[in-house]
Amino acid sequence: IGNIYFLLKVTARINSPYANPSGTDPDLQIFFAGYTAHCASSGSVGDPEDPEDPDAKKEFTFSPVVLHPKSKGYVALHSNNPFDPPKMVANYLTEPEDVRVLIAGIRVIQQIANSTIMVQKYGMQIDETEYGDCAVKNRYDSDEFWDCAVKYYTGPENHQACSCRMGPKSDPMAVVDNKLLVHGMTNLRIMDASAMPLLVSGNTHATIVMMAERGVDFIKEKWLNGGGIANRFGGESQASNQRVPAVTSPPVRQNNFYNHNKQMGLPSNFNHNEMFHKQHPNLPNPYLGYNGKYVPMYNYYQGYNSK
Ligand SMILES: Cc1cc2nc3c(=O)[nH]c(=O)nc-3n(C[C@H](O)[C@H](O)[C@H](O)COP(=O)(O)OP(=O)(O)OC[C@H]3O[C@@H](n4cnc5c(N)ncnc54)[C@H](O)[C@@H]3O)c2cc1C
Repeated sequence: IGNIYFLLKVTARINSPYANPSGTDPDLQIFFAGYTAHCASSGSVGDPEDPEDPDAKKEFTFSPVVLHPKSKGYVALHSNNPFDPPKMVANYLTEPEDVRVLIAGIRVIQQIANSTIMVQKYGMQIDETEYGDCAVKNRYDSDEFWDCAVKYYTGPENHQACSCRMGPKSDPMAVVDNKLLVHGMTNLRIMDASAMPLLVSGNTHATIVMMAERGVDFIKEKWLNGGGIANRFGGESQASNQRVPAVTSPPVRQNNFYNHNKQMGLPSNFNHNEMFHKQHPNLPNPYLGYNGKYVPMYNYYQGYNSK
């Protein structure tokens, strides 16, 4: 049982015969689900789902997922009403190779499910669902049967991406450049799944968080060194007198940076960044540009105060 619990907490990424020959860019992912997701009425992990039928068979699902589908969908305006949801056309499995990759995944899953340990130790049996009339039209378990079955029972796997993809300006389908800036615009960036140039070979969330972190770095790089945008501790708007001052040597305390103190009822010479640092000693200091470099603001003012 312990091993089965473990199986349901993992995912597999493998190369089908259609994968990139480098072998480092898997095109198939296998998800294992169910069983532990069905809670026992007692609330305890491992207790039978139905106490009145403790020996009832448990079920779980192994799902093959195409990581680099050849089939492409699109997002478009649905109407000229801005409140209408967009039109999303998925075009799943319109390219036959995607079906072949899925069938390759099904064959791997069958090997796992039919392995000695699964069959002899856990008594695993494959559920021979017939998928509509797929088994009537085709010999059960033939490639033709699975070709029919994967179209009968298809899920999206929630990794929609690349609709505003990154690429050079010369690429007519590229929307953002390598700093996530929309081509032809100076201040508009896109930092989410849509900006991926290609789908990653796995789940998308961590990559999107990383893209957003990079995007924030680009914004800081552009605005913090020399001013232009309101600092998170000073200024209530981006009006020019509220902007982070351009800092030149030697550093001069800029009063407008501390307007916020007045609103907070604090003395005008109170250093907000120090206050933040005292309240959140484990968080990194916010950064302020100085002489073309980024230096922790706290250190910067320590230097200033000691002069
Ligand atoms: C059910 C499900 C399970 C998933 N499981 C996993 C997983 O286990 N691991 C993994 O890595 N990935 C998983 N994913 C994929 C991952 O969550 C997504 O790829 C990722 O969240 C997409 O990030 P995003 O920033 O591009 O978009 P989103 O996270 O969708 O963010 C878009 C944001 O924009 C907001 N928004 C929309 N319209 C407007 C508007 N007009 N004005 C203002 N705001 C607006 C939305 O409210 C939303 O907060 C899962 C996705 C789903 C749907």
